Amino acid sequence: MNAAQWEALALNNPEKEGQSGRVRMASQVYFFDFGNGSDVHGAIKELVGKAGGERIRRGMKVAVKSHFGEMGNYTHIRPSFVRSAVDAIKELGGRPFFTDTTTLYPEGGRLTVADSLETARYNGFTEEGLGCPVVIADAPDGESGVVIENDKNLHLKRVKVAKAIAEADAIIVLSHVKGHVMSGMGGAIKNLGMGCTTKGTKSAQHALHGCEFDLDKCAGCGKCVESCTFGALRMSDGKPARGEGCVYCLTCMFNCEERAIHLLEGGKERFQEGLAEAAFGVTRALAGKPVAYLNFVMDVTRLCDCAAPAGKLVVQNVGILASEDPVAIDKASLDLIDGSQIIPGWQVSPPDILGKLNKTSSLIHIRTAARLGMGSMEYTITGV
Ligand code: SF4
Ligand code: SF4
Repeated sequence: MNAAQWEALALNNPEKEGQSGRVRMASQVYFFDFGNGSDVHGAIKELVGKAGGERIRRGMKVAVKSHFGEMGNYTHIRPSFVRSAVDAIKELGGRPFFTDTTTLYPEGGRLTVADSLETARYNGFTEEGLGCPVVIADAPDGESGVVIENDKNLHLKRVKVAKAIAEADAIIVLSHVKGHVMSGMGGAIKNLGMGCTTKGTKSAQHALHGCEFDLDKCAGCGKCVESCTFGALRMSDGKPARGEGCVYCLTCMFNCEERAIHLLEGGKERFQEGLAEAAFGVTRALAGKPVAYLNFVMDVTRLCDCAAPAGKLVVQNVGILASEDPVAIDKASLDLIDGSQIIPGWQVSPPDILGKLNKTSSLIHIRTAARLGMGSMEYTITGV
């Protein structure tokens, strides 16, 4: 669909009136349609400015937050697209740096700062290519950050925002929109809540889905114990037993061929609530600063960029969205995907294609973010 068709769809957005019937303010989302536009690099520059980048002032230190992909993932955002955002910031007078955080889990080459920088280089994210420094935001140990106190009624009472991100004068959040096994769809909110926080806050979110052992299915092979680099598992009477130190990385679950390890009931729902709460903490740390969100709706896979590879594409490439509102841009991205042509081979239909493929509802984290006041589920789309 082109921008005009999306504009019409947004006007029919069923979220336009809440359950109370109260009409809420619609947020502005800008859209570069791959089907209509040809100058993608020019469009990225324009989108950065329109989505809030024009508030960047000379000399400001600007974080360009993205995900450079796991070692072996090839569906992450292309480095040349990041370069266009970097160039836009420079033209606005800002001093950009490209940034991401370390992971909770050991696989994929992003556990430590050194591993992360090597993976970034391998995937093409270098200072030379991007035209700005590459900074791991939670360096040196994955725990460097600024604590934000959240409401005491939330799952996450406190959120630790990665230091380099919290201390930046402005931020451009570049998110690859794709599926995610816990959140259904992963976009801007996911990039904030998981991507901008320290290992401790990542673990607190994953603790909400938890994991437990079904010892009736367990064959006693011990692979889960061997896979746990945190020493949280040991064998006891031929079966695994969990002790202290679990960070809920799920490495043991992915290594169990008997499917004897699973999430707690309602785990994905709680995880999504925690994800939105973490994202809320990050937006509070950035309050008052120029913040622009760009969502790249392309190379949409069922799994996220932490998967290597993330599998076959689910829908045709769509375009790039930009907004100052992380809720509106994610809801618009979800709707765009649902309105796109599904690639033959997938047995799924809208609404929420990515949520269905991942056996959850993507709207849980988007609605939670809206309820927390991060933005609006209503939007209007303007083409660029
Ligand atoms: S990997 Fe699975 S089957 Fe093997 S010991 Fe662990 S839980 Fe049991
Ligand atoms: S027990 Fe499993 S989920 Fe917990 S830290 Fe070890 S591998 Fe990760």
